[in-house]
Amino acid sequence: MARANHPEHVTLETEPVDGGELHKFLFEGLPVRGILVRLTGAWTEMLARREAAGGYPEPVRRLLGEMSVAATLMQANIKFNGALILQMQGDGPVRMAVAEVQPELGLRATATVIGEVAEGAGVEALLNVNGQGRCAITLDPKDRKPGQTPYQGVVPLHGDQREPLQQLSEVLEHYMLQSEQLDTRLVLAADDRVAAGLLIQRLPVQGEKNLEGGTASGGRSNEEEIGLNEHYNRIAMLAATLKREELLTLDVDTILRRLFWEEDLRRFEPQHPRFACTCSRERVARMLNGLGRDEVESVLAERGHVEVGCEFCGIQYTFDPIDAAALFSPVVSQAGGTGTVQ
Ligand SMILES: [Zn+2]
Repeated sequence: MARANHPEHVTLETEPVDGGELHKFLFEGLPVRGILVRLTGAWTEMLARREAAGGYPEPVRRLLGEMSVAATLMQANIKFNGALILQMQGDGPVRMAVAEVQPELGLRATATVIGEVAEGAGVEALLNVNGQGRCAITLDPKDRKPGQTPYQGVVPLHGDQREPLQQLSEVLEHYMLQSEQLDTRLVLAADDRVAAGLLIQRLPVQGEKNLEGGTASGGRSNEEEIGLNEHYNRIAMLAATLKREELLTLDVDTILRRLFWEEDLRRFEPQHPRFACTCSRERVARMLNGLGRDEVESVLAERGHVEVGCEFCGIQYTFDPIDAAALFSPVVSQAGGTGTVQ
């Protein structure tokens, strides 16, 4: 019984060149590296798909654009073989916002808005009204074995003095320092055409990950170097002079030349992020299975079918009574949940 409207796995993408560009670079001979990313088509496609469902208020678009950029930067930075999921859980008008990036830089993002969003609202007004907001970064391995839990790091949305943070970049810089012990400078910006960001990071002196080439630290430990490396501090300071407007309107070569014209940069082949949703009928089936037979049957009794829409790409998955009965056959229930919906 073939059903043309039941795709098993759907990957939606724009032309690779239109999705955006990501440029990695090293500061020759110094323990500092950087990544500059500009999301164009990858970002506008996400907005366009959401437009059908009413779209997002401006401050939420900005937050989600910056999250998409930050997640892309972090994924490209660690080269993790699995999904990197950046998630904000809020106690304000935004209950949840999530950006997810695959190893080959396919990305998707969505937000759940439950209240009135004030004009110009920052992180605190959107997500941390009562101080309960959280930012979580999850690394979900591609070939995760049953029972294996993904790595997750969680930070609150305030600084060391309990002051509420207003910018996503501050939250993530804090996260990198606390959980990864990495000095990081992030500049993020998004409007309705472009979402862009710059990451500057000091290479750890010791430690298992992210080491590329030698460092110029003469045997000091990473902990001693935190906040003290003069090369990193100089370059991070230059990065911080980059204005939002410049990041959104200038091309990559111009930005790097303006900021680092006195530095010796080694650049790498650009990569191309793009919009891509990883939802599938199979994953929706697993989620419905997790809800339980009673729940599914009560929806069937009411509407005659069960319809589930993907929050990320807008595709609707429909299950009639026969499909729904199959959900609770042994084959599906042994498949095991992923812990996340879609
Ligand atoms: Zn989808």
